[in-house]
Amino acid sequence: MTEARIWLKNPLAMLCEGAGGGIVVQGRRIAELVATGDSPREPVDTVFDCSAHVVLPGLVNTHHHFYQTLTRAHPAAINKELFDWLTALYPIWARAVTPESFRLATRLALCELLMSGCTTTSDHHYLYPGGLDDAMDIQAEEAAALGMRITLNRGSMDLSRKDGGLPPDSVVQDTDAILADCEAVIARHHDGSQGSMRQVALAPCSPFSVTTRLMKESAALARKCGCRLHTHLGETHDEDAYCVEKFSCRPVEYLEECGWLGDTTWLAHGIHFDYGEIERLGRHGVGVCHCPTSNMVLASGQCRTLELEAAGSPVGLGVDGSASNDNSNLMEGVRHALMLGRLRYGAARVTHLDALRWASEGSARLLGRADLGRIAVGMQADLALYSLEELRFSGAGDPLAALVLCGAHRADRVMIAGQWRVEDGIPVGLDIARLRAEHGAASRLLAGA
Ligand SMILES: [Zn+2]
Repeated sequence: MTEARIWLKNPLAMLCEGAGGGIVVQGRRIAELVATGDSPREPVDTVFDCSAHVVLPGLVNTHHHFYQTLTRAHPAAINKELFDWLTALYPIWARAVTPESFRLATRLALCELLMSGCTTTSDHHYLYPGGLDDAMDIQAEEAAALGMRITLNRGSMDLSRKDGGLPPDSVVQDTDAILADCEAVIARHHDGSQGSMRQVALAPCSPFSVTTRLMKESAALARKCGCRLHTHLGETHDEDAYCVEKFSCRPVEYLEECGWLGDTTWLAHGIHFDYGEIERLGRHGVGVCHCPTSNMVLASGQCRTLELEAAGSPVGLGVDGSASNDNSNLMEGVRHALMLGRLRYGAARVTHLDALRWASEGSARLLGRADLGRIAVGMQADLALYSLEELRFSGAGDPLAALVLCGAHRADRVMIAGQWRVEDGIPVGLDIARLRAEHGAASRLLAGA
């Protein structure tokens, strides 16, 4: 049986050269670019009129902590910087993130992302209080139910306060147990094939919550299993001071000692690297996930995106956890990346096209997905369509620039692997009001625990 062909016809604008007449999607992939005024070469089954839509490749989110949607704008943590913010929130998370609330937090974060035009996400889940042993399975189920692609980051912490780390004892795990579970999670969930809907990365949390042994053995296991590696690095000056005190070196040197420098590693934040560190990361092709919104909220600093790219590091975007953003809107992250980039580099060197490229092609590279992040023949048919009907767009000239400058925040339609997953701004088959009520109740329960 031949696969159905749909022509997304005559877009108002599209982030792709030579496709003024739209694109043809066949099955799960993009089959044809149609030039302005042309028709598809082969017959199509359906035509979707895109003349009111700006079309982007589906956005890719490369850093998040879904469970934190339960503690947004938390009174104990607002107006603090990273270490004090974490110290305030760890005990709250430790007491009360249950499998039920975790499932709702995951569903809610996935929906927010999807509605903003994100088609692939990762989630860095490192918090394992009692009862959350199935966290990766829960996330796999929730992403599958929405039809989203996910890279499950099997996060980990094995260095608690009693051993000189930052987190409380109740949320860390034994090193051997972590490594055994990482291997089991990879066996259950990692699909490295083209067009994969689910992959696994190993993600020890950060230098101040993980032992050197876990860092080294995670790297060895990831290499053995063909998985990627992820961690937080270079987020704050406190972290630099911690590394110098504990390991007698700066963070990137420590990463190298742990066997992490390579093009299958991507780092969250990457703010406080010096020139030598940027050169070393670039030489090894280590990717960096820029989290502009979270970095502004926690006053952490600005990622040196252009220097990192020039050195050879791919740069992508992440919304980061919802206790430091405090939402999961990746289009808002694109806008913040543009604005923050301009503060550092000036108006001409960071354009809306750069910010959109980071959120799509750049992010896909961080996740090792050559099949995602661009609109081109043979790529997976992951697309985000935005309408410019809202008041905020009225009077706009360049439609692609308008998405970023006027503040697009919600996709009208989203396609993943050739299937519509958002229609009229709503995830297909989802009761938004019910999700809002259930998640809100779980959050209030957690706050009172
Ligand atoms: Zn983070």
